[in-house]
Amino acid sequence: MCSPKPLIGITCSTGVSPDWAASSPGQPQDYAFRNYSRAVEAAGGIPLLLPVPRDPDTGIGMLSALDGLLLAGGADVSPRFYEEEPVVGIGEVDAARDVFEIALTRKAVEAGMPVLGICRGIQLMAVAMGGSLYQDIYAQAQGCLQHNQKAPKDVNTHRVTLETGSCLRELIGTSPVWVNSNHHQAVKRIPPGFQVCARAGDGIIEGIERPGAGFLVGVQWHPEGPWQYDPSSRRLFEGLVRECVAWRRKPET
Ligand code: MN
Repeated sequence: MCSPKPLIGITCSTGVSPDWAASSPGQPQDYAFRNYSRAVEAAGGIPLLLPVPRDPDTGIGMLSALDGLLLAGGADVSPRFYEEEPVVGIGEVDAARDVFEIALTRKAVEAGMPVLGICRGIQLMAVAMGGSLYQDIYAQAQGCLQHNQKAPKDVNTHRVTLETGSCLRELIGTSPVWVNSNHHQAVKRIPPGFQVCARAGDGIIEGIERPGAGFLVGVQWHPEGPWQYDPSSRRLFEGLVRECVAWRRKPET
């Protein structure tokens, strides 16, 4: 008696909330901006937030309830997960979230579950699958564009060119497209078996995917920002939902 709509897990950022009582100062919290869940819901999926668990095995247990995984944006991925030490320009990292999401991503990939990575999510996907990152593009990729836009998140500010024949190009249906941008890191070495499917004008990798192996797509922009009026953004969530429905059906038939 399962729902016809796929359950899509959305990873959370972590933080410390303000005091909620004088006797209980800041409390750890897991959260995701509502745009992610609204975009998934509007595309026909059922969004579920995935808190960072104490034990990574608990996180693996979460997967059994899901039809798909959305790796959301957030803090920098710790460079120790791609065998580098931090450079001066690195931002805040959250190793507990990294450990959880790396395990989750590898298990999802193993199961053939559809995965969409957004911003930090494309970076996490790359690292989990054996790639590496620019820790700070402004220090390490000279001459790059402004990728930390000052405009609101629902405004698209730079172009990306989508690779002809790629899954992402098929999904969005046109190229180039304008996207928003709020990142100072980017994929440097793509993981084995993956290909670049989107680049900014400065050469920065804005999309990766693994061809011929289900739906494993990462984008460096934030399609959940302008989804309400931007068809290209909506198509990403609709594509994820379609793939999740198709994937869920397979084990049952
Ligand atoms: Mn960008």
